Amino acid sequence: MIAGYVLGSRASNRASGMSVVANAMFDKGSVADVDALDLRVDRLLLVVEALWTMLKKDGHTDQELADIIAELDAADGSVDGRRSKVPITCPSCGSKVAPNLPKCQFCGHATGHEPSPLERI
Ligand SMILES: [Zn+2]
Repeated sequence: MIAGYVLGSRASNRASGMSVVANAMFDKGSVADVDALDLRVDRLLLVVEALWTMLKKDGHTDQELADIIAELDAADGSVDGRRSKVPITCPSCGSKVAPNLPKCQFCGHATGHEPSPLERI
């Protein structure tokens, strides 16, 4: 319960000096990792917003964006508001392989799948 409170209100805790408690409960690497992820997400949102602003100036609409988001969301087989990486099937052993891997993690067979720039993230 305390951990949930600390994690759930991490930003306000940091501002009010409660980060000392959080650092005592979790190793400092974890807090630093979360802070780094927060920064990356903020930067990513800024880039996405800039790109969308550019596209809107070219005449694209919010409805078009919503339609494409829904299409991409459903493409991984689950409409859950997330874009999950869809595994590929190893042509040699039939195991599921993450699309960013050049070889099957079970048998080492090259998948032949060329990951897209987004799959490499
Ligand atoms: Zn395999």
